[in-house]
Amino acid sequence: METELLVIGGGPAGYTAAIRSAQRGLDVTLVEDGNIGGTCLNHGCIPSKALLSATDTVHEMDTAEEMGIYVEPYVDVEEMVEWKDGIVEQLTDGVGSLCRQNGVELVEGIAQFSGDNKVTVNGDQEITFDSAIVATGSRPISLPDFSFDADPIWDSRQALGADQTPPRLLVVGAGYIGMELSTIFSRLGSSVTVVEMLDKPLPQYEEELTQPVYERATDRGIDINFGEAAAEWRRDGNDVVVTTKTEDGETTTYEVDRVLVAIGREPVTNGLNLDAASIETDPNGFIEVDEDGRTSTDHVFAIGDVAGEPMLAHAGMHEGIVAAETLAGRSPPSADAVPAVVFTKPEIATVGLNPGEAAENGIDPVVGKFPFAASGRAMTARETTGFARLVADQDGTLVGGQIVGPEASELIAEITLAVQ
Ligand code: FAD
Repeated sequence: METELLVIGGGPAGYTAAIRSAQRGLDVTLVEDGNIGGTCLNHGCIPSKALLSATDTVHEMDTAEEMGIYVEPYVDVEEMVEWKDGIVEQLTDGVGSLCRQNGVELVEGIAQFSGDNKVTVNGDQEITFDSAIVATGSRPISLPDFSFDADPIWDSRQALGADQTPPRLLVVGAGYIGMELSTIFSRLGSSVTVVEMLDKPLPQYEEELTQPVYERATDRGIDINFGEAAAEWRRDGNDVVVTTKTEDGETTTYEVDRVLVAIGREPVTNGLNLDAASIETDPNGFIEVDEDGRTSTDHVFAIGDVAGEPMLAHAGMHEGIVAAETLAGRSPPSADAVPAVVFTKPEIATVGLNPGEAAENGIDPVVGKFPFAASGRAMTARETTGFARLVADQDGTLVGGQIVGPEASELIAEITLAVQ
C-alpha cells in the first residue's frame, strides 16, 4: 500500500492531523492499534469527566439541604458506568465517521518503521509513505513491584473501567489524575487514602492554587499523606496491605481493597522501531521535535503526548493542526496560550505566566486578584472557595491567568483568548 501521509495513532493528536491533512488534499492513511479516539476518548479525559459530572450531581443532591431541597440520591454504579460507556461509544463512532467522511483510510494494527519511508502493520502489511506523523501517545508509568497485571493494582484505565466501587482505595500519586480519580471514588462512597512522595498535591501548580483543593479533599474525608513512597504490597486474607516508606526509612502500612497507581505517564515508542527511520528521542524517551513538530528525520513529524509536554488532549490537537498545515505548505497557527485544567473540586485552571514566571521572564508583573468569596454569582452557586487572578505587564498586556474555584475550566477560555 502507498500513501502520501501516514499517521500512526488515532488519538486526539493523530485523528486531528489526519482529518486536517485530508481536508488540505493529501491522501492520508491512519493506522490505529486499539480504538480510534486514543487514551483521551476511551480511557482518559472523557470517561473521567463523565464520572466527575455524574458524581458532582450526587454531591449537589447530598448538599442541597441548605437551599431547602431534600433529596436522597440512590446511585447504581453499573448504570452510571453504562451511561459513561455510551458517551465514549458515541464520540469514538463520531470520530471514526469523521475520518471516513474526510477520506482518511483507516487501517487497524500496530505500525512499525521498517525504513524511513515505510512501515509494516502487524508485521505483514507494508505501507510506503511520503511523509509520516507519529502520534502514539503515552501510557501509565508502573511502579516496581506494583504490576498492573496483578488483580488489586489498577492503572487509571482500569479504574475508569471498573463497574464496582472498592470500599477502601489507596491512590499512589497526588498528580491531576490521582486527585481527579480520588474525587470520583470518594463521592461514590470509597474510603480513599492518597500517598504522595512529594510534600504537596499537584506539584506543578503554586501552593496558593492547590491549597483549596487539598482542604476540600481532606474535608470530604480523603486522607492525603505526603513524603511517602509506595514500597511493596501483599495480600492478607481479603486485605491488600501496602507498605510505604519515607526518605528516612520510616514505614507505614495501609489495609485496602484496591490500589490505583497514578505516578505519571511515559511515551509509547517501544515497538515503533524508530531507529529504522533515524528518529531521535530525548533521555526520557519522548520524540524530539522542532516547533512545527518535525523530528530529526525531515519528512516525519511527532505530535501529542509522544512528543512530550504539555501532555494534554487539546495541545495534541493543536500540534496535529500545526503539523498538517506545515505539510500542506501553509503557515501554521500559533499557540502562545495553552490552558491546563485540573477537574477537582474546586477546579484549577491556568494559562500563560503566573506572577513568579512573569518575573523570571523579565516582566515586572501587575497582578489583579479577586476572591470568589466576594462574588455574588459564586455565592448563589454555593462555591465561594478560591480566586481568579490576572497577570499583566506594566503596559497592561495580559500575560497569564490562574483560577481556583467554580467553573474555572470554563472561565479560563476567555482569559486564554485574551492572552493569545
Ligand atoms: P493517545 O490519546 O494516547 O492516542 C495514541 C493512540 O496511538 C492510541 O490509540 C494507541 O492505541 C495508538 N498507538 C500507539 N502505538 C501504536 C502503533 N505502533 N501503531 C498504531 N497505533 C498505535 N487531557 C486533557 O487535555 N484534559 C483532560 O481532562 C484529561 N484528562 C485525562 C484523564 C486521564 C485519566 C488520563 C489518563 C489522561 C487525561 N488527559 C487529559 C490526557 C489526554 O488523554 C492525552 O493528553 C491525550 O490522549 C494525548 O493524545 P495523543 O493523541 O497524543 O495520544
